This record gives sequence, structure tokens and C-alpha cells, in this order.
Amino acid sequence: MTAYKDLSRDELLELKSGLEARFTEIKAKGLKLDMSRGKPSAEQLNLSMEMMDVLNSGANLTCEDGVDCRNYGGLDGIAEAKQLLADMMEVPKDNVIIFGNSSLNVMYDTVARAMTHGVLGSTPWCKLDKVKFLCPVPGYDRHFGITEHFGIEMINIPMTPTGPDMDLVEKYVNEDPAVKGIWCVPKYSNPQGITYSDETVFRFANLKPAAEDFRIYWDNAYCVHHLYEDKQDYLIEILTECKKAGNPDMVYKFSSTSKISFPGSGIAALAASDANLKEIRSMMQVQTIGHDKVNQLRHVRFFKDVHGIVEHMKKHADILRPKFEAVIDIFEKELGGLEIGSWTKPLGGYFISFDSMDGCAKAIVAKAKEAGVVLTGAGATFPYGKDPHDSNIRIAPSYPTPEELSLATDIFVLSVKLVSIDKLLG
Ligand code: PLP
Repeated sequence: MTAYKDLSRDELLELKSGLEARFTEIKAKGLKLDMSRGKPSAEQLNLSMEMMDVLNSGANLTCEDGVDCRNYGGLDGIAEAKQLLADMMEVPKDNVIIFGNSSLNVMYDTVARAMTHGVLGSTPWCKLDKVKFLCPVPGYDRHFGITEHFGIEMINIPMTPTGPDMDLVEKYVNEDPAVKGIWCVPKYSNPQGITYSDETVFRFANLKPAAEDFRIYWDNAYCVHHLYEDKQDYLIEILTECKKAGNPDMVYKFSSTSKISFPGSGIAALAASDANLKEIRSMMQVQTIGHDKVNQLRHVRFFKDVHGIVEHMKKHADILRPKFEAVIDIFEKELGGLEIGSWTKPLGGYFISFDSMDGCAKAIVAKAKEAGVVLTGAGATFPYGKDPHDSNIRIAPSYPTPEELSLATDIFVLSVKLVSIDKLLG
């Protein structure tokens, strides 16, 4: 394969006319394909359908400790759900609170509480002139949406293959008291599928924040979402490391069963130190009498324990793995050696991250759309929707069928080639 940059103008023009003919042919098919959002496919959702049978009108809805799930009570969640999520999150049960159906909701509320009431006695952020968050990029658009919503200034921190650039993180956190938080997706990150190295986690745990109310927002959404049994990333447990480093209160850890059972109808959890949880409970009790215990019980009766979750995730992996591999195979065959793009090959999570030549991502997304392929908007993986290089595109292979996915990837690859040629032609 000759890199496009080494082709002559005439060679590029010839290539372009062939690719354009193929593009016009495909466009005429009037396809409608979606590679935009990280949603499980119907086949994956079917894996959890027996959850609908575990609680019926004859079921005993009394929990292990005698709590009747049908009634009010139990702010923290039922004991067995706490145990299940604690095991999944690798933390002690007493350091977990079970919430409702969405961890994003818990993250929003956690930022909202800090804005209005402060964190463990510190000044509420809304009374400060400036509040800043560090945002590893590319990252999860909805994290950035929360901080933007509250008017928090977001600072880009480049991702590296081992996690966020820790030299920069340490500089900002240890020197600037206006930096109050950092968004992290530490395992199989959204969108690159990167898992933070041991050193990165140690450096996080050993930060010396200038702000006493600085917190790491550790969103471990993909903690059990491996694609392979024999090749898995391993992440060090952050709560324990923070405690060892003398920073027990510095982290909030979030997770949920959204992409394990049913997104939007799963259970979410937060793990943190005793002091943090005490404060959170005191505000939570104003907000709610308790979350959906019936759904918590349904999850526990279905999965039984964390081993049940692990086995269940293997079934998800069997469905997801060929989809990831199909996309990556097409990228390698069609784009390998052309030097017009690079992509990640994650061992888990929900996304593949694609980087085009600078200044091409928006045009690629628009081109693919012309032929009926919806991609996540270019820029979405950056705060304020602004990718400084206009190069990152998040690919979500989970939702389409394998046939749709191959077609969508072919169209994507064609779009990348056409836009890159235009860029090189100037
Ligand atoms: N965190 C990350 C990193 C995600 O990618 C997603 C969904 O795509 C969520 C959180 C949403 O989780 P939940 O459904 O628990 O709100």
C-alpha cells in the first residue's frame, strides 16, 4: 500500500474518480445505518430477558435482611444489591450506595451537590469565581455535558496509551485550587478503549490537590466489559490506593449495570469513603425515600452473585467481539498503510476510536451521512464539542447487525478516503 501523501496529483485524481463512482452507487441504495451511539443490540438485550421471570406475582419480595422490597425504606439500597455491585466494583459493601437506573444521573447529582452545598464543608462551588474540571480527551460527551451545564470551565488533558497525561494532571491539580475535579473512564475508556496503567492509578492516588474539595470522578462504566477471555486489561482499585496514599476522600467511583442488563432499566452505584458517603446520604434523604428496590432484587435474583455477572458478560462478548473485529479487519485491509487514519483495537468496552488526518473528521461524518451512515458528531468527544484537530471520530459497533456493520464500515472507509484525497489535493 502506498501512503496517499506519496501519490502524485494525477494518481490521486484517478483514485478519486473510481472511489466517487462506488460512493454514488452505494448512495443510490438509500441505506439507513447507525454507528453513533453505544447501545447494546437487541440480541444482547435478549440475554437478560429471564430477569423478567425471576419476580412474578407469586415471588417472595422480602430481602435477606427482612426488608419488604414492595414498601418504602432503605436509602442505601438492599443489602444483597450492595454486595453484588460492591463485588463488581471491587470495594467493600459498606462503601457502596445503590441508586436508581443511571450512573450518569448520579454523576450529575454529585456535581450538583458540590455546586449548591460544597464538599465536606468547603465553599459551594456556585459561590466561587471560577471552577475548573480536567477532561481527558477524547472522552465521553455526556460527562462534558454535565460540567458545561454548570458553567464549569473544562480543560483538555490529552490521553496517552496508559491514561491521561499525568504530568499535566499533577501540574493542574497540585497547583491550581480552582481545579475541583477530573472526569475519568479508567477501564476500556470511552471512546479509545484504553485502561489506565498501574503507574497512572498510583499517580492519581498520590495527587496533592491544591483544592481540599478536589475529587476524581472515576466512572468505571466498563469494569466487566471484556471482549476476550484470554486477553483482558486489569485496573488497580482506586479507593484502596487513595486510602493507602492518605487521600481516602479524594475519589467518587461510579458504575452501573446499564450495559450488563438493560440500559435505562439497570441499577447504578456509587462507591466512596465513609465520610463522603455520610455527606451524600444526608443530602439524598431530602431527595428520595429510596430507589427502586424491586429492580435491585430482580437483578440480584437473576445474576445471583458477581460470578453470574462475569458469566453473563461472556455472552455479551460473544456477540460484540465479531463486530469489533469486523470493523477493525476492514480498517486494516482498506486503510492500512495509507497514512490517512489510525484507530484503536480495544480489548473491551463499547467503542473504537478513529483519528483521521487533521481537519477531516467533520467532513468524513458529513460524507458518510450522505450515504445513510449516522456517526457520532465529530467533536463530540471533546469539551464544548470542539476537537482542536478536527480528527477524532467515535465508532460504536454494538448496535447494528453484522451485515449492517460491514456495509456501514465500507461506507465509512470510502468517506475517509474521499475526504482525505480532497484534503491532500488542497
Ligand atoms: N459512563 C460512560 C463512560 C458511558 O459510556 C455511559 C454510556 O454510554 C454511561 C456512563 C451511562 O451510564 P448509565 O446508563 O449508568 O447512566
